[in-house]
Amino acid sequence: MRSMSQAAPFVFPGISTRVVFGSGTLANVGEELARLGHAHALLLSTPHQSDEATRLAQTLGPVAAGVFAEATMHTPVAVTDKAVSVFQASGATAVIALGGGSTIGLGKAIATRTGADQICVPTSYAGSEMTDILGETEGGVKTTRRDASIRPETVIYDVDLTLGLPLPMTMTSALNAIAHAAEALYAADRNPVVVAMAERAFPVFRDALPRLASAPRDADARAETLYAAWLCSTALGYVAMGLHHKLCHTIGGAANTPHADTHAIMLPHTIGFNAAAVPDLLAPIDAAFGASPGKALFRLAADIGAPTRLADLGVRETQLDAVADLAVRNPYDNPRPFDRAAIRAILQDAWAGNEPGI
Ligand code: NAD
Repeated sequence: MRSMSQAAPFVFPGISTRVVFGSGTLANVGEELARLGHAHALLLSTPHQSDEATRLAQTLGPVAAGVFAEATMHTPVAVTDKAVSVFQASGATAVIALGGGSTIGLGKAIATRTGADQICVPTSYAGSEMTDILGETEGGVKTTRRDASIRPETVIYDVDLTLGLPLPMTMTSALNAIAHAAEALYAADRNPVVVAMAERAFPVFRDALPRLASAPRDADARAETLYAAWLCSTALGYVAMGLHHKLCHTIGGAANTPHADTHAIMLPHTIGFNAAAVPDLLAPIDAAFGASPGKALFRLAADIGAPTRLADLGVRETQLDAVADLAVRNPYDNPRPFDRAAIRAILQDAWAGNEPGI
């Protein structure tokens, strides 16, 4: 299925996660936990956000069974094993993940092993909270899987927690979110609800991100950006991703590049590549930004001060051949067929920071 008229067949799986969105909604955590039927929860965060998690634990009182503040990028199994022991010893029956994708990943890893319910309080735009996807690392190898037991029960978006997200991460994290919406537009298993949500995200980001670039604590622009990130996370959570996500995964694994920066840099090139095959499906990007998809996303990244060259992440030109070899090892669905030469050309453009032709 490559195009979808209004009468085209589809499956809509429903959206099962409860969402609470607003300012000051962190105050709802206790109520949401009780709603799920839990009396004790373990709080999770990275070391960097342990103060926020500890403050939340103090507010919750005896409901908080402890704080585990060791969430780590790429969800290492060794950290999860330790967290599961702490979870089991604490008497908790649920986890509350306060943070970005790394913390939410730890919550998912605990939940899928123990049956714990999850409340996510996302503080970045990466978008793990609405998905049934978990990536874990062991012995230097990252494996990703989808399973119903991974999907969080409740997500509480509190705009106030995003006001202080550093500007560089704000922009790369938002581009990471845009990548979910862009690939949802042409996903083979897309449906009208997810496509409508994805389409809406582009104009919201277009209007909000430049305002954040000049006023990072603008509460309205923060709220709009978080709202768009929810739209994108939902898109990621209910349809399959293509070339862009797979290639970013390969680059991150091979060159150890930061997750959000890698997405930000690759996005114009992968979407530009696919735009040649499915311009109609990617037309919402043209409509929002007034340029063809690859060019539009490249200019957006440059305008909001995001990185545009793999070279700036420390990737050496000599590494690109090995990445291209790895990227074509396992086949997956993508609207435009590709071979190693096509991937190598995409990588070269992204490495050098060339503006895509389309
Ligand atoms: P992250 O969670 O690693 O956060 C990076 C740093 O920023 C951490 O130190 C964190 O504590 C800090 N931080 C987060 N929010 C902050 C805030 N508001 N203010 C100040 N500091 C803040 O990074 P990320 O980009 O959010 O997540 C990336 C990870 O999430 C990757 O491992 C990626 O694979 C995963 N991910 C998974 C899914 C999925 O569906 N499974 C989706 C998207 C991302």
